[in-house]
Amino acid sequence: MIWHPYQQMKNMKEPYKVEKAEGVYLYTDKGKVIDSVSSWWSNIHGYNNSEINEAIENQLKKFAHVMLGGLTHEAAEKLSNKLADMLPGDLDYCFYSDSGSVAVEVALKMALQYFMNKDETQRTMVLALKNAYHGDTFKAMEVGDDEDYHFVLKAYGESKNVVHIPTEIGEIEKAFEKYHSRLNSFIVEPLLQGAGGMRMYDISFLKRARELCDKYGVLLIFDEVATGFGRTGVRFVADLVLPDIIVLGKALTGGYIGHAVTVANKKVYDAFYDDDPNHALMHGPTFMGNAIACSAALKSIEIFERENYIGKIKKIEEITRREMEGFNDERIKEIRIMGGCVCIEVVDQKNIEGYQDFAFKRGVFSRPFLKYIYAMVPYIIEEKELIKVLDTMKLWFQQ
Ligand SMILES: *Cc1c(COP(=O)(O)O)cnc(C)c1O
Repeated sequence: MIWHPYQQMKNMKEPYKVEKAEGVYLYTDKGKVIDSVSSWWSNIHGYNNSEINEAIENQLKKFAHVMLGGLTHEAAEKLSNKLADMLPGDLDYCFYSDSGSVAVEVALKMALQYFMNKDETQRTMVLALKNAYHGDTFKAMEVGDDEDYHFVLKAYGESKNVVHIPTEIGEIEKAFEKYHSRLNSFIVEPLLQGAGGMRMYDISFLKRARELCDKYGVLLIFDEVATGFGRTGVRFVADLVLPDIIVLGKALTGGYIGHAVTVANKKVYDAFYDDDPNHALMHGPTFMGNAIACSAALKSIEIFERENYIGKIKKIEEITRREMEGFNDERIKEIRIMGGCVCIEVVDQKNIEGYQDFAFKRGVFSRPFLKYIYAMVPYIIEEKELIKVLDTMKLWFQQ
């Protein structure tokens, strides 16, 4: 049997069974619904995209997968060149993994080993944000700040190697003053903290973070697993403030196959590049650089650029703002909108109990959590479909 994610199996309600998916629609055994979650924010082109299907089929005719240890192949090479071209600054060095969590682990390992390779052995600490989410593996949990992991706190207590701060300039200044000589990196989900509650904050915080990281020689890591490829309204937040390491996942393959990449700048790469074999980056997931994943990613990026997705996302944001304008209810604490993300935070978790079924009956698949009802739709959604998603959210409070 399937053991489902984040789920108390004892009281799990029957999951909807997907039989087919096309465009923004999931066709389930209980009817056709718009996927307002984009399969955990990854499916940006809609389902069953004929171009990505074809790219995968073409790669399959050659081979599905070969390891990257001692081997290379065209799809991984092309994707690395494409990412280096596309990403700002000298974010040019692409290290692949099979998931976002692992790619975050790689980024944090890079940051630690960067300083160990330079014999700065006191730099063992990571600065991170309150309400951060960086994935489910152990180091990712440690830099994260997720209520779900309280059993880890119970087991090990507070981490001595991670400090969490809120997204306030005064707080980051204080943290740097206190810990700068021991920090190797500052990791953030830039502008939009996803799984921690769709929290949005201002770019000025990241600009200050960049200045402080420069001043004290600390590496700035952007975990853009969720924000990358347009979700906040810009291609990458890294286009606005340049990190030393960026992590991409989720939409990297258009939501087709689990794959992720940790891209470092030259300064980071150079700290590993010398005659000492122990200075090599000690990591290598079996399926890194999977040829099918790389082919899907290449085609996904081609479509993203060719079809003016940034324009599409701006339009989604515009429609969302227009439709949500003036909407309120006493049960709502705040409505947040940024790019292709809208979130209604309610006062009490009870206020959204039953929302998933309510939305499903109206033709929308949604996955509210804690105090949040949100939508992160595929970018190809049409105006009337988007309005249906937003109307469903509003209707819940009006029934
Ligand atoms: C989803 C997510 C991850 C983890 O990615 P997986 O592919 O699920 O391992 C890491 N960081 C952020 C910001 C995410 O949203």
